[in-house]
This record gives sequence, C-alpha cells and structure tokens, in this order.
Amino acid sequence: MKRIVILGSTGSIGTNTLDIISKFTEKFQAVGLTANGNVDKLEEQVRTFSPAVVAMADRAAAERLRARCKGLKTTILSGTDGLRQTATLAEADLVISAIVGGAGLVPTLAAITAGKFVALANKEPMVMAGRLMQEEARKRGVRIFPVDSEHSALFQSMEGHRVEDIRRLILTASGGPLWNLTKEQLRDVTVEQALKHPNWKMGDKITIDSATLMNKGLEVVEARWLFDIPASKIEVVVHRESIIHSLVEYADRSVIAQLGLPDMRTPIAYAMNYPERIPLDLPSLNLAQIGTLTFFNPDHDRFPCLTLGYDALRIGGTMPAAMNAANEVAVQAFLDRRIGFLGIAESIRRTMDAHKPVEVSTVEDALHTDAWARAKAGDVVNSLSAPAR
Ligand code: NAD
Ligand code: MG
Repeated sequence: MKRIVILGSTGSIGTNTLDIISKFTEKFQAVGLTANGNVDKLEEQVRTFSPAVVAMADRAAAERLRARCKGLKTTILSGTDGLRQTATLAEADLVISAIVGGAGLVPTLAAITAGKFVALANKEPMVMAGRLMQEEARKRGVRIFPVDSEHSALFQSMEGHRVEDIRRLILTASGGPLWNLTKEQLRDVTVEQALKHPNWKMGDKITIDSATLMNKGLEVVEARWLFDIPASKIEVVVHRESIIHSLVEYADRSVIAQLGLPDMRTPIAYAMNYPERIPLDLPSLNLAQIGTLTFFNPDHDRFPCLTLGYDALRIGGTMPAAMNAANEVAVQAFLDRRIGFLGIAESIRRTMDAHKPVEVSTVEDALHTDAWARAKAGDVVNSLSAPAR
C-alpha cells in the first residue's frame, strides 16, 4: 500500500490523481490533501477518502471546513505551516506536487527535505529553483518523478538508455488554441478564446500558458533541471494533435518517443507506481483513425514567451524565477481582463529586462526574486492597463 499526499488535491491534476486512487484502493491510500480555498471540493474529498490530515492555504476557508467536518476524524490544518506539515506527514510514501504556481515551492521542497519521493506536476518550483531542488533530492536520496506529460514521455523514452548517449530532447507542444492566429488577431484575443484548449482540460493558469507558449518555455527549464541536460540540447516542435508526448534522440540518430491519447491519468499513474504500470481503463490509441500527425517549427515572433524561457535559462541564476513570477502576475491580469493577450509577453519581458539576477544559493534567493518580480510585473501591468488619456 502506497500512502499518498496530494498538494493541490482540488485542482485538475489533484482530482485526476484521486480518480486513480479511488479505482486502485488496494494499491493507494490518500493520507493527506491540501487546497487553497475550495471548501466544497475539499469537504467532498474528506468525506470520500477520509485522509488523516488536510490543509487549506486560506485560513478562513480552513475555519469553514472545520465547521462542516465536525465529528470526522480528519485533522484540518491551515496556512503555510499546515501545507508544510501535510507535505511532510510521517506516514506518507509519495507526495504528488500539484499546486499551481510558485506557491508550491515551499511545500514541495519541504517534502523533499523530509525524504519523501515526489511526483511533480507543479513545474513552476523547478523553474524557480531547479538546481536547489535537485541538490536537495540527491542529498536526501529522494526521486522526483515527472508528471508533466512531456517530461513523463522523456523519462519513459530514457528508460534503459545511457544519459551520455542522449543527443537531443524534443519537447512537443500542441501550439494551443491560438496557433493559427495572426499577430493582429492575437492582439484582440478574448479570455474565452484563450481558455479553449484543443486537446487538454486543465486549470486556467496552465491553459493560458499553453496559449502563449509560456508553458513550453517553463517546460524547457523544467526539462533542463529534471534531466540535467543543457538548454542547447533541448528543442521544441509544435505537434497539433498531442499524440506524441515528446521524444529523445540518441547518438546514433535513433529517436525514441512515447505516444498515447492525451489523458493526464497516464503520466500521473506512471509517476505514482513507477516502474510498474497500472491497467487504466482508458480508450486505446487508434493511429489509423487519427490518420495524420502534423508538426511545425514554433513561431517565436507570434509567441515570444518560448524565447523568454530560453533567455531566462541562458542568463541563469534568479532570472527564471523572475520570469515565472512575472508570468503569474500577467496571466492573472489577463484573466481579470486588465491587459490584452500580447500584454502577457510584454509584461514578462519588461520585468526580465529590469531584473538583476543573482545565484539561487538558498530558497530565499528564489522567494526574494519571486516577490520582487511580482511587484515589478504589477507595476508594468498597471502601466499597460491604464486607460489611454
Ligand atoms: P488547478 O488550478 O486546476 O489546481 C491548482 C491546485 O492548487 C488547486 O488544488 C488549488 O486549490 C491549489 N492552489 C492554488 N493556489 C494555491 C496557493 N496559493 N496555495 C496553496 N494551494 C494553492 O491547476 P492544475 O491544472 O491542476 O495544475 C497544477 C500544476 O500542474 C501546475 O503547475 C501545472 O502547470 C501543472 N500541470 C498541469 C497539467 C494539467 O493537465 N492540468 C498538466 C501538466 C502540468
Ligand atoms: Mg506539459
């Protein structure tokens, strides 16, 4: 029996993970869950899964949950401390890191420091402090299994191969819902248009990241740290159908890929039960029915966020953390209809231009930059959203 903690259990990855747990109760048990403020969903999960501990980042929400769960055995914690305690539960074997954004850094790192194996969906902490997280994992003998579909594909395509033989990692990108629009059309994109992802059903933030291609920028940085492969060996190809989840090219030019219909339960299950595969009851890939798979080079002009990802990695230090924080602020401003779609890349670029990077020697370096960049990006967003006089 594997005892599981899910950080971000009420989200898209969190609920997919619980779906797997509910179907394989002889294999998995949910012992700890965390959420931000969704009391309804977490209450439902407490009643269904009876975890030992849950935590809500929002203290007022935790109070409401306590009132509703009176008489139940689950301990309800709150705030950053509550998240940290849940992430480091003594009985936990594996922590699913599925909070969205930089908010996941502290609890995920705490899990690693406590010696917990981690299944990582929450890519932003890897972007903010990848070197640090990997050093900590090595020190504690902890493995970090990728959940992100591309990184799971890379991981699966590397099994049984020597790292020295890798020539290139090729990340696939769907291109998102706006891939076919001109720059002029991108200027006027609505929130609804940007949220209509063609292949995946995900949380709002990552869906907007997919539309800007910042998701791929973040994933390049994630791949760099997950697999210890330099950026010069990481490429991106747009593959509209999201059937090939990523590829690895070896020295002899042999290319190994992982394929499947787009469903996050496949990479989640692989990370949860590595190296054994779980018999998931999902539709099979039928290539003849799909017929055609298409590929394009990414367009850095219409989608500059991918370039920003490579730039941040090349500059190094705290620059990726600054980029990530600026992106979080800009995406929220776009969702709040305060800036236009092109304003997202613009806000990130201006924040990065103003950032003076230092080494990420401690988690505080990353958190300090995160706070600085959020404030800076907030100013930029305000200047972009100010009505013209
Ligand atoms: P989501 O918005 O659906 O869920 C986010 C979860 O995090 C929720 O449980 C929410 O309560 C919690 N949360 C949000 N803000 C928080 C805060 N400040 N403090 C504590 N908890 C907080 O997001 P998602 O789509 O499930 O994505 C989660 C992570 O996984 C992201 O980093 C995303 O990039 C990554 N990811 C998601 C998918 C996907 O299919 N959804 C695929 C690959 C990677
Ligand atoms: Mg992905």
